[in-house]
Amino acid sequence: MRPILVMKFGGTSVADPEKIQLAAARAIAARKAGAGVVVVVSAPGEMTDELITLAHRVSKDPDARELDALMATGEQISIALFAIACRDRGVPAISLTGPQAGIYADDRHTRSTITAIKPDKIRAELKAGKIVAVAGFQGLNAKADITTLGRGGSDLSAVALAAVLKAKGCEIFTDVKGVYTADPRIVADARKLPSISYEEMLELAASGAQVMQARSIEVARRFGVRIHVRSAFHEVPGTWIVPAKEIPMEEAVVSSLALDKGEVRLSIVEVPDRPGIAADILARLAERDIPADMIVQSAPTHAGVNDISFMTPRSFAAKAKAALESLAGELKATRVDIHEQVAKVTVVGTGFRRHAKVAARVFGVLAKNGINIQMISTSDLKISCVVDQKHAEPALKALHKAFGLSRGGRR
Ligand code: ASP
Ligand code: MG
Repeated sequence: MRPILVMKFGGTSVADPEKIQLAAARAIAARKAGAGVVVVVSAPGEMTDELITLAHRVSKDPDARELDALMATGEQISIALFAIACRDRGVPAISLTGPQAGIYADDRHTRSTITAIKPDKIRAELKAGKIVAVAGFQGLNAKADITTLGRGGSDLSAVALAAVLKAKGCEIFTDVKGVYTADPRIVADARKLPSISYEEMLELAASGAQVMQARSIEVARRFGVRIHVRSAFHEVPGTWIVPAKEIPMEEAVVSSLALDKGEVRLSIVEVPDRPGIAADILARLAERDIPADMIVQSAPTHAGVNDISFMTPRSFAAKAKAALESLAGELKATRVDIHEQVAKVTVVGTGFRRHAKVAARVFGVLAKNGINIQMISTSDLKISCVVDQKHAEPALKALHKAFGLSRGGRR
């Protein structure tokens, strides 16, 4: 059998009929070059957002099962148009919804996880010589209901299919040319990275870089799926996401920067310093499915109290504040503060634990630019600083310059 290639086209790459034709032409070229081609597509353009808005015009709190049924229609439009475009060029192709393609998921509506893939039908259609266009972002749960895989979930569909089909690669076609040292819309001399490790890409994605869905990178790492992020519109090499050992190691340890303006900072102020308080707070958040990141507890004051702060997505701000306020009284905390004008700047690389110099440099650069750091969190792979939103872009630019990222910081 031909070696299999999974090609995923994001929303902007299938936004209109001309772009769908362009994408189909690329899939056809890959097939002519000898691959068995499985295409995964997202909904056209902003359609998923539009469908969500539509649901909210009918109901303040749309039912999750029906919201999934609605959202899944976007990708179904794309697969059918994609197959039609291929056939118009005389190339056999077939569209398959997630369920038809054998993609199974759990029943956490709107944020399901793939539980299994039974690719028999995909294999049979490939064997029959067809290009197989699979709807991304959707699966079938054990109750035979359609579910979706969380925003940006087509990346996960593509990577999971590549893993199960033992594809030779997974190409992610998008509206940028690859993964950059920083967002090129902010940092003019940001540079496209030829390659990046799974670990670094995971940190970047989790820190707000919007190139790929973070969960898909975890799956890629686990199954060793080689990813090539590249432009849907220019035939140039993009960025390879591969195991760290394949990346030439040179001196610099910093590879890239990410900026996230999508979170707010919450603090519960002056809670008693005794065992169980942090547990109570996190349990209250967990109960209500509120994500919390960068959890920081200050050292106790001599009054025997401390502050506990964390970051949560902007869309959860009100819910998180209400959850903490409901607890503040019980815990005898002074108050709950919310800071909305914040941004998180993250420096990504490897071996930070061994190089305290990197952290010193990051903090030094921010200080020199008069930027106050509100929260810090570090690991071997990243240093994140929460700053005032007005400092976000200056911080990104200053760090990019200080680490020489435009000149090939690492490679
Ligand atoms: N269409 C879905 C979304 O916009 C899935 C995706 O694009 O990957 O989130
Ligand atoms: Mg999308």
